[in-house]
Parts: sequence; structure tokens; C-alpha cells
Amino acid sequence: MKASDDTAAVITGRCYCGATTISATQAPQAIAYCHCSDCRRVTGAPVAAFAAFDETAVTFSPDEGRKVVANPGVTRTFCSACGSPLTGRYDYLPGQVYIAVGILDQANDLAPQFHGHESQRLTWLHIDDDLERFATTSRSRLADAAK
Ligand SMILES: [Zn+2]
Ligand SMILES: [Zn+2]
Repeated sequence: MKASDDTAAVITGRCYCGATTISATQAPQAIAYCHCSDCRRVTGAPVAAFAAFDETAVTFSPDEGRKVVANPGVTRTFCSACGSPLTGRYDYLPGQVYIAVGILDQANDLAPQFHGHESQRLTWLHIDDDLERFATTSRSRLADAAK
């Protein structure tokens, strides 16, 4: 996306250092917490919250960062300059790109809709809500959101 197209962005974001910026022309398809240990390690936070976008709606400047594949079928990218987590892509969720809510400028408007991997939630972490909780993966719910 050229700078002149930025007015079309409904969601924007950036990494910690600002070298990488994110622009999305569509609202997320789904927003979720993930309590899995992988997401904890990627974000360094006790729970991750991420937004699922149609990958054709999102652009990264100058690029999507450095790719890391630590688990088969999962590709994550990190800002080449500061290492902020930027994206996650899952072979079993084609066409979607997952972005941590915390790096998006509109995070306050992007409330999660459900919890994934509730069975891995840290026992001292209590989030008091009535959202649906998936004991393990929420991939079926996420795939449905893309339809
Ligand atoms: Zn996870
Ligand atoms: Zn950065």
C-alpha cells in the first residue's frame, strides 16, 4: 500500500521501535485470547490477545519482518529491527494473518470474543468475563470467522 492509500486503513499499528508499521483496510474477522504456552513465549505476556485478519487486507511497511518457524505449520514474524512480534500464520488457517492486539493503535476497541487454550491458562491469571472458552484450540471458531 502506498502512503496515499493510508486513508483507507481502518486499523493501524506499529512495532515497539516504530520501524515496522501495519495497516489494515478491513476490521478483524475475529479477536481472541490465547492462553497457550507458545503465545506466552512469543509475546512475553501471561496471555496473548490477537486479531485474525484476511491476509489480503493487511500491509506491512517496509515488510513483515523476520520469519521464525519453531513449530511445523506455524510461521511467526518479528520486526527485523527490534524483535517485536508482528504476525502469526497457521497452515490450518489459510488466508488469515494473526496480529497481537497490543501492537495495534485501536487495541482499546478490539475486545476479544473468546478464549483459546483455556486449559493452559496460568492458574493465577483470572479474567472475569462471560466469553466462550475453548479448552484447547479455537481453530474451528477461527476458521468459521473467515467464511
Ligand atoms: Zn496460542
Ligand atoms: Zn521494530
